[in-house]
Amino acid sequence: MLVVMQHGATPEQIDGVVRTIEEMGYQARPMPGSQRTAVGLVGNDGRVDSSRIEALEGVAEVIHVSQPYKQVSREWQPESTIVTIAPGVSFGGGEIPIIAGPCSVESEQQIIASAKAVRAAGAVALRGGAFKPRSSPYAFQGLGKKGLELLALAREETGLAIVTEAMDDEGAHLVAEHADCIQIGARNMQNYSLLKTVGKIGKPVLLKRGMAATINDLLLSAEYILAAGNDQVILCERGVRSFDPAVRNMFDLTAIPVVHKLSHLPIIGDPSHGTGIRGMVTPMARAAVAAGADGIIVEVHPTPERALSDGGQSLYPEQFAQLVGELRLIAGSIGRSLAASGTAAAAAG
Ligand code: PEP
Ligand code: MN
Repeated sequence: MLVVMQHGATPEQIDGVVRTIEEMGYQARPMPGSQRTAVGLVGNDGRVDSSRIEALEGVAEVIHVSQPYKQVSREWQPESTIVTIAPGVSFGGGEIPIIAGPCSVESEQQIIASAKAVRAAGAVALRGGAFKPRSSPYAFQGLGKKGLELLALAREETGLAIVTEAMDDEGAHLVAEHADCIQIGARNMQNYSLLKTVGKIGKPVLLKRGMAATINDLLLSAEYILAAGNDQVILCERGVRSFDPAVRNMFDLTAIPVVHKLSHLPIIGDPSHGTGIRGMVTPMARAAVAAGADGIIVEVHPTPERALSDGGQSLYPEQFAQLVGELRLIAGSIGRSLAASGTAAAAAG
């Protein structure tokens, strides 16, 4: 529930609403706005009797949020949230940042070569898993903490922001120390204790859609992070399981406009996991930008045939450079632009 205060409501009147919400056994979240203040009521599971609040002085209106997720909804906050993970790297505004890099961090040479290649092509953030959620326990599991240190080194050398996955609470704290944005992978989208942890850590979070999750499930998972106090959440469409083995996953482009309608959070597209096939990545990346994605995350590897994970869906650096040029044109044609590798890179020289 959202209590909208009258224009010019006094601090005492706002306090009165906060106190009443707390007396009713819920939590109050005052949200000062440019026009008027709203006070969010959270902690309820179901409709709250608002008559006591409606009667308070200074209250203009009470809005019952109709969605099961509250703070994530556009009813709660009509204006889009902009999530900034590093200087010049913001998701949800007019600019579209590109995150690129290998599936996994494999060695210093590999991650530095990847970082330099994707930066030269126009990426503003580097991806690369240090903790890898692999379907087989015998597959490469990632370099762990050493991988995070190599990512930090790549940031020093290139100025790229770092996005990397955490799979558990301990990993989340380690990732927060080394990276700019904590990725929660598809397999952990419904790991609610991990969602609460990253909510409390407060660093920007990239939350990927689970492979069999509905958009409603995705938004409820994001709600866990906002409910824990962190509104710096970027959603990511990465394809869902389908009946059709022609591709690894079915990239759900519709999720982009649907999320924009339902939520104020930015949503980006991952055409690499969304298709699982190198030749399909470029067309679906183009389509995601055309559909209004607030960013793109793409797997790029200097030598995909030698990659320790997801080589078959990783672009060659030249293919990625070509794609960025095309995305620039598509973004321009819909009144947006690609984020330039400016501030973050310039800071590192
Ligand atoms: C990844 O980004 O490498 C990854 C494992 O993605 P997802 O969680 O979407 O499968
Ligand atoms: Mn991958």
